[in-house]
Amino acid sequence: MALMAAMRAALRSLQADAAASDRYRMIVESAVDHAILTSSPDGRVTSWNTGAQAILGYTPEDIVGQPFARLFTADDIAANVPAAEMRAAQDGTGVRTERWHCHRDGSHVWSSGRTLVLRDPQGQLAGYLQILREHSAEKAALDALHAEVEARVAERTRALTDANERLQAELREQQRAADKIRQTQKIEAVAHLTAGVAHDFNNLLTTILGGLEVIRRRIDDPNSLRLIDSAISAAQRGAKLIAQLRAFARQQYLAATSLPMNTLVQDMRELLERSAGASVRIEYDLADDAWPAMADAGQMRSALLNLTANACDAMPDGGTLRIGTTNTLIATDETDLAAGDYATISVRDSGTGMTGDVKARLFEPFFTTKELGRGTGLGLAQVYGFVRQSGGTVRACSEPGKGTTITILLPRAAEPD
Ligand code: ADP
Ligand code: MG
Repeated sequence: MALMAAMRAALRSLQADAAASDRYRMIVESAVDHAILTSSPDGRVTSWNTGAQAILGYTPEDIVGQPFARLFTADDIAANVPAAEMRAAQDGTGVRTERWHCHRDGSHVWSSGRTLVLRDPQGQLAGYLQILREHSAEKAALDALHAEVEARVAERTRALTDANERLQAELREQQRAADKIRQTQKIEAVAHLTAGVAHDFNNLLTTILGGLEVIRRRIDDPNSLRLIDSAISAAQRGAKLIAQLRAFARQQYLAATSLPMNTLVQDMRELLERSAGASVRIEYDLADDAWPAMADAGQMRSALLNLTANACDAMPDGGTLRIGTTNTLIATDETDLAAGDYATISVRDSGTGMTGDVKARLFEPFFTTKELGRGTGLGLAQVYGFVRQSGGTVRACSEPGKGTTITILLPRAAEPD
């Protein structure tokens, strides 16, 4: 009896199992928007529902028995993703997945789901169960949104970068303008001081020289005469120095006339080339319609000689010196120049160039970087003083290793008669 009851119970259970397994099959088959597939422990597909066929294109006949890795993209296969997923699924709850899978037609399907292990009643690995849902449309929408956000961020970043660069450029420009004002003010202050000192020293030297001349006439002793003569020549050197300082301080006498710049340069050609020496080539770049300048001819000539000498000093191994004339129209007042027309002459060399520090002190009297006895530091001070006194300005453009251009702007004169 007991045996019969046990057999009946076993039969009922079998029937119940069969019914349950039918029910499961029905559920699995009706889940048409879910791909539900199983695979063997070595990763071959063992079952494939209607949903899997709808989502991934393969029929059960195509895919059952094939490696389930076939559903992975080449990149994922290269990265060993299928094996890693099987390993990860081993821990009870399985592994969540979200990735591109390969459709039978070669297209890619974005899907998310879960991979679980299947175990037999003895707890041995019986295979894997995968459940996937397709989200290609959502993924495409999300990707499009990302792309748009990225594009907007990039555009905004570009706009901000542009604005920032503009701001930096403006700040640099302001800084340059402020530096220029400071330098101009400094040189004005030095000129002012120099004017006072030069005036007083000139008076002293005039008295000293006058006294020495009177004494000289009164003595015959040759030794004393030699002493007096050397004192007189020292005082005369002093007077020359004072004259240079007065030129810087804009206190020299200037006889301004209408000065045709090209003629001036052409008349000086031989002198300039001789003073430059053989290793420096001088080129001329004279504008046909160069305006005449309103300036002192003698001072302008000595300025050009000064600039040429400096250019040659900056090219100890030779190089090229370009002397050019042009016309400059200043539309609005600048720090050191009133609006107007300016006859312009420039001297450009291919020499050593200058550091910012040297450039900032260029026009200071006695500023020199040359060795003792070679430079007086009065050349550009004189040029600057003469040009400023004439109502113009001097500009320097230079960078270490890139040569130097010194430009003189002088007020335009009416054409000479
Ligand atoms: P000096 O020639 O007696 O040194 P300047 O007043 O003529 O005095 O020049 C002052 C300084 O400016 C020079 O010692 C030199 O450092 C610099 N300088 C002038 N002109 C140039 C140039 N063309 N290239 C490089 N540096 C220059
Ligand atoms: Mg000089």
